[in-house]
Amino acid sequence: MRERLERLLAGRYGTDQLSRFLLGAGAALMVINLFLRIPLLNALVLADFVWIYVRMFSRNFARQSAQNARFLALRSRFLSFFGDIPGAVRQFRTYHIYRCPQCRQKIRIPRGHGRICITCPRCRHEFIRKS
Ligand SMILES: [Zn+2]
Repeated sequence: MRERLERLLAGRYGTDQLSRFLLGAGAALMVINLFLRIPLLNALVLADFVWIYVRMFSRNFARQSAQNARFLALRSRFLSFFGDIPGAVRQFRTYHIYRCPQCRQKIRIPRGHGRICITCPRCRHEFIRKS
């Protein structure tokens, strides 16, 4: 069985990050659609699985790896956009962001120091806030 599978896949593109993502996305959509029961979503899942098979058995390596590279580039852009949400939350919890009442400059102040006098680094205006 394993040997037959190997012979079947010889010279074929096989799987990559894009097909693993498509598999995960298809499986997730399938589970979601158990509850939603939208026919269009079923067709989408089917198309998704067909696409995985087509890519897996493709002999056009250049085309498939180019698709995969585009997917990886898109994924890293997505991750760098959303990946820093924990960092932003941490920042929000440890710092207060104030705006200078005079020049609107944003100023980051660590929390938990009580009432403090803040000097704007841009216009030197001083104002008092609770940190
Ligand atoms: Zn200012």
